[in-house]
Amino acid sequence: MTRLIGIGVSPGVVAGRAVILNQRAQVLRYRVPAARVGHELDRLEQSRTRSRQQLVDIRARVARRRGPELASLFDAQLLMLDDPMIVPRAAEIVRAERVNAEWAVQQVLQEFSAVFDEVADPYLRERKGDVADLVGRLKMNLRHGASTPRDLLRELDESSVLVADELTPSLAAQVDWSRVRGFATDAGSRTYHTAILARSLDVPAVVGLHDASRVIQPGQLVVIDGAAGEVIVDPGPDELARAARHADDHRPAFSGAPGRSAPAATADGVRIRLDANIEFPDDLAAARYAGAEGIGLYRSEFLLARGDREMASEDEQCAIYRRMLEGMAPEPVTVRTFDVDEDQLIQRSAEPPADGAWGAEAERAGRQGLRGLRLSLTRPGLFQTQLRALLRAAPYGRLRILFPFVSSVEQLRAARAMVAEAAAELARRGETVPKVPIGVMIEIPAAAYTADLLAREVDFFTIGTNDLIQYCLAVDRADERVSRLYQPLHPAILRLIVMVRRAAVRQRIPVSLCGEMAADPALLTLLVGLGLTEFSMTPGAIGVARQVLGEVRSDELRALARRVLRLPTVDEIEHELAAALGRLSLIRE
Ligand code: PEP
Ligand code: MG
Repeated sequence: MTRLIGIGVSPGVVAGRAVILNQRAQVLRYRVPAARVGHELDRLEQSRTRSRQQLVDIRARVARRRGPELASLFDAQLLMLDDPMIVPRAAEIVRAERVNAEWAVQQVLQEFSAVFDEVADPYLRERKGDVADLVGRLKMNLRHGASTPRDLLRELDESSVLVADELTPSLAAQVDWSRVRGFATDAGSRTYHTAILARSLDVPAVVGLHDASRVIQPGQLVVIDGAAGEVIVDPGPDELARAARHADDHRPAFSGAPGRSAPAATADGVRIRLDANIEFPDDLAAARYAGAEGIGLYRSEFLLARGDREMASEDEQCAIYRRMLEGMAPEPVTVRTFDVDEDQLIQRSAEPPADGAWGAEAERAGRQGLRGLRLSLTRPGLFQTQLRALLRAAPYGRLRILFPFVSSVEQLRAARAMVAEAAAELARRGETVPKVPIGVMIEIPAAAYTADLLAREVDFFTIGTNDLIQYCLAVDRADERVSRLYQPLHPAILRLIVMVRRAAVRQRIPVSLCGEMAADPALLTLLVGLGLTEFSMTPGAIGVARQVLGEVRSDELRALARRVLRLPTVDEIEHELAAALGRLSLIRE
């Protein structure tokens, strides 16, 4: 029996089998029964076969479009696929540690990184990038047809506890909390986020354990004591009895199924609109179940060509949009036109669909070239097809069209001209075209600074803080050396949000915020204090958001926001926010 001491952020005592989550590497680690080891080895081999086929295809495609020199970059990865230190080494880890294949390939990457970091040779250093790419591909293909990490988090058996290096709100939103009894995390700073989550979910939680996710083995029995702030590994009968007593007189209030009937509002009655961000048309059901009022962001990139699947034609796109609009009617569906860059456009058509939120997340990070609306404007064929399909579907519900990655009024005007052209073409075909609201994502600092000018020419704004933060603060989130500077609470970000909201209010157009920031209940309260009342977030975050909003008063949040806007550093802002949330009894101070 081992005791790990941390900070209790949500009371209660639970026992369960540990599921280990490595959030930074985005891999779940769990123990597989002896009988399933063969299955894991098969999955690994299938992933290798699929990866090989894809790399061969990509190489051929790149050779055709960009020349043989660039194509040869893929040779190194193809060779590595047969290296005994990669797939066979992962198989050895699966057999020896009886863990899932995803975790084993991640371990291989770590072993490689440790070796490469010691060598000075720049050529070898570069190979580290190749191994990382290859491992990413193997992981993507392990997901193929099997459970995604998101599914796994939903399918955990009912006696699980989650032990993670870190639990971000967007990840917490993917967990089925009616099955997970409690959680423990290594990370301990900014405990108020995790505390609000745990409290709203009504599950015991301990944070600040430093290395619990390394020390605790998957499948190991642990007790989490959220009041004492400790985690007991391999508990004795006394601890187990204590957990059982607690379970008897404590049934979780949060069932995962949110109160769908009542719209969200603060305790003093300010209505807050909570919409869903979705990536696939099938996510509509999850959005409805979670209680989303509408779809605030549909990332339509899914409709582009992918692997052996052709690009959705005008008719196919129209049918998909129509289904979504009908499914959500009378509430709005905001379809964002394709947001990819050139490389992604080429690469996507060479790769199979990456299902699961994490794949999509990794893909979205950090592209600032010919992307989003800029790309659409250079591909009139592609763009017109999408616009015609959208306009044809519009009569079947409440469509809003949203342009991504806009950095100037000129681009907006050019896009509007394209919409007019698509409408004219439909009119020539004898179709009636209703007027559709057009909006822009405010996600490039230039757009935020010119929000007053853009506001005059659009029907709505959607603030995309994921991109806005990284471009405003010049922080590439994928670069670990600076990723801690990715700070949603940076005074510059808060000021930009205020500026955009003010421009929208002056022009009397609606403004919502759809970045990850909205899924974090602590940040959400501050955003409400800043005057925002419309949000769009991953469906799983809606239940907690609604609950937290119901416990706070808007006048107190406005006072909090006023204080926060005067503070010069992120530390001071965090401190002020934590203190205020403590006073509002959202967390225990
Ligand atoms: C954003 O940038 O905040 C956003 C919601 O868009 P994406 O994450 O798809 O770039
Ligand atoms: Mg974006």
